[in-house]
Amino acid sequence: MPYDVQKTEEQWRSELSPAEYAVLRQAGTEPPFSGEYNETSAPGVYCCRACGAELFRSDTKFASHCGWPSFYDPKDSDAVELIEDRSHGMVRTEVRCARCGSHLGHVFEGEGYPTPTDQRYCINSVSLRLAPDGD
Ligand SMILES: [Zn+2]
Repeated sequence: MPYDVQKTEEQWRSELSPAEYAVLRQAGTEPPFSGEYNETSAPGVYCCRACGAELFRSDTKFASHCGWPSFYDPKDSDAVELIEDRSHGMVRTEVRCARCGSHLGHVFEGEGYPTPTDQRYCINSVSLRLAPDGD
């Protein structure tokens, strides 16, 4: 499925920092407890760092203590794309930005967190940019 935002790998590489490129375009993972939004509770909207699409709201962010920013629901159900990921000998669900296809993280469910959805969108800080709430 083509994404609304499409760029060559050269373009992405020139627009993103090496750390951003490794996660967003190569499905890497930032080290746990290293990301700038890991413990952030400031209000606002988390946007895709690659294309600016609004992905998550701060009021669905919760303290999972897993080492990465965690959300229990995307801002809009079609803001993210979920893809089965069988890498590393595991079956996981990859979360991508639905607008540009960049890798954001993974979603896990049924872990028992006291959230409305019992889901944990485990997202790399480097994939996100927190913007003040515009509503
Ligand atoms: Zn994006």
